[in-house]
Amino acid sequence: PARPIYAEQLPAGLQTISNIVAVSSCKGGVGKSTVAVNLAYTLADMGARVGIFDADVYGPSLPTMVSPENRVLLMDPVKKTIIPTEYSGVKLVSFGFAGQGRAIMRGPMVSGVINQLLTTTEWGELDYLIIDMPPGTGDIQLTLCQIVPLTAAVIVTTPQKLSFIDVAKGVRMFSKLKVPCVAVVENMCHFDADGKRYYPFGRGSGSQVVQQFGIPHLFDLPIRPNLSASGDSGMPEVVADPQGEVSKIFQNLGVCV
Ligand code: ADP
Repeated sequence: PARPIYAEQLPAGLQTISNIVAVSSCKGGVGKSTVAVNLAYTLADMGARVGIFDADVYGPSLPTMVSPENRVLLMDPVKKTIIPTEYSGVKLVSFGFAGQGRAIMRGPMVSGVINQLLTTTEWGELDYLIIDMPPGTGDIQLTLCQIVPLTAAVIVTTPQKLSFIDVAKGVRMFSKLKVPCVAVVENMCHFDADGKRYYPFGRGSGSQVVQQFGIPHLFDLPIRPNLSASGDSGMPEVVADPQGEVSKIFQNLGVCV
């Protein structure tokens, strides 16, 4: 795929990573972190070496969604590099593991923290680094995309019309940066009850995005109580139920990125 224009300025900490994939949404609460975490664990299950970088400094979800034994990031005293924590074979870095909880910071500070966490971490050899982006398309997101040579972006949305408008913004941001958007995940699209399928947020905006922007893949992720429960329990759904319906959706997404 096309490389972003900043690839030649690759930060040292990222040089041993083959693919860096952004999971992005323009609003909070649409399931971006759920998709990022389950995608990462699916790729790991497929045999890849994987890391997750939770760039959502204001609302880090990674410490809730995965439960590593070691919940604090360590610093190598000599090299002054950050050593990621690990859960079920996937390397993890989140501001939520930096021992400071939720922060009150201005934008440039946030960008500084993200930059430091991302580029001074000893990721080691990775096939994929999945970045759980902060929601939105503002300065923080743009700076992040400029620091990191993304190989692909996955956009997460819910089916409402309003979120379609937001997705369009996200697609435009990535296309300006020459990062290919490989898939849209339309989350919470439906649920099944009493033998019937319900579409609580309406239908069709995902396929509208895909057609309008020429994005090659669209995935429907249904509302599943298990997805929410496993998100809260610290064991991602694809780890808890590797043969389940949700795992199959993520396996299909995994081959796209
Ligand atoms: P975001 O990262 O966009 O803020 P999250 O991934 O944190 O969103 O999801 C918000 C909440 O919705 C979480 O509690 C999560 O477990 C739940 N959730 C996300 N997707 C689904 C789904 N398809 N079915 C059920 N619950 C979901």
